[in-house]
Amino acid sequence: MTDITLPTYADVEAAAKRLEGHAHKTPVMTSRTVNDLLGAEVFFKCENLQRMGAFKFRGGFNALSKFTPEQRRGGVVAFSSGNHAQAIALSARLLGMPATIIMPHDAPAAKVAATKGYGGNVVVYDRYKEDREAIGRKLAEEHGMTLIPPYDHPDVLTGQGTAAKELFEEVGTLDAIFTPLGGGGLLSGTALTARALAPQCKIYGVEPEAGNDGQRSFRSGEIVDIPTPKTIADGAQTQHLGNYTFGIIRRDVTDILTASDAQLIDSMRLFAARMKILVEPTGALGLAGALTIKPELQGKRIGIVISGGNVDLERFCQLLSN
Ligand SMILES: *Cc1c(COP(=O)(O)O)cnc(C)c1O
Repeated sequence: MTDITLPTYADVEAAAKRLEGHAHKTPVMTSRTVNDLLGAEVFFKCENLQRMGAFKFRGGFNALSKFTPEQRRGGVVAFSSGNHAQAIALSARLLGMPATIIMPHDAPAAKVAATKGYGGNVVVYDRYKEDREAIGRKLAEEHGMTLIPPYDHPDVLTGQGTAAKELFEEVGTLDAIFTPLGGGGLLSGTALTARALAPQCKIYGVEPEAGNDGQRSFRSGEIVDIPTPKTIADGAQTQHLGNYTFGIIRRDVTDILTASDAQLIDSMRLFAARMKILVEPTGALGLAGALTIKPELQGKRIGIVISGGNVDLERFCQLLSN
């Protein structure tokens, strides 16, 4: 790994200032049913109720608000088919700069439409023939755009850490905190926050069972690369952690757990039926992962970040009816 300087909790605090008045301070929800089910006191941080429907607004807005006037004129470029695209498009619109989003040709029409709806200029590429990172770099060079990656960037991951900051400030210290894990922006930002505000708190990332590269990386001490995993958790289909995110995760995180698609569906059903909230498959990873280590959580106070709620209703119904 190349020599990099990892961000700190002070950077999370600075991000929180930049987000003030722009990001929602999302609600913390509790459920007697879930407490009984887990044998613990559980606090859910509801980022499914964040602007554009996921925590990614935090990192995107934080990164873009640090642009120089010259960078703002050139605008931002991002590659994503999901929540990062919408986060960047919305943040750019709010900050008055152009945004170009590079999406695969087979991205769901609803996601393309949502990104365009936030004012993003969508460029389509063939995911089997073209290299999206090369396209992004080319656009950045030729048009003076600044590339903002979905997770491996100090301003992105420290922005994501502000969700946990709000959670600890609202409910006090916790024995354990669980977040979904894709490329590790949310988990590493959460880890910086937890280490600063609740030093004894255990920190868990939860990734799809079909793609446990994070778990293997954490346990082997080296970033493991995998083919795009097949899972319903489309926000966590990443192939590897990043240098920044892994640097923090290996140092601060307690362990990485996994959850199967069936376990995610059970958790989505519980959220809908008992808590009346709509959670996307990836957003349910935290609860599903906590349930896998239930014996260790008896009588504890735990936090679970619900990372997003962007799933179209037909798909949601289809998943729950199986
Ligand atoms: C992006 C995303 C994740 C994974 O976040 P990373 O920072 O890549 O680990 C989890 N849940 C949702 C809803 C997401 O959009």
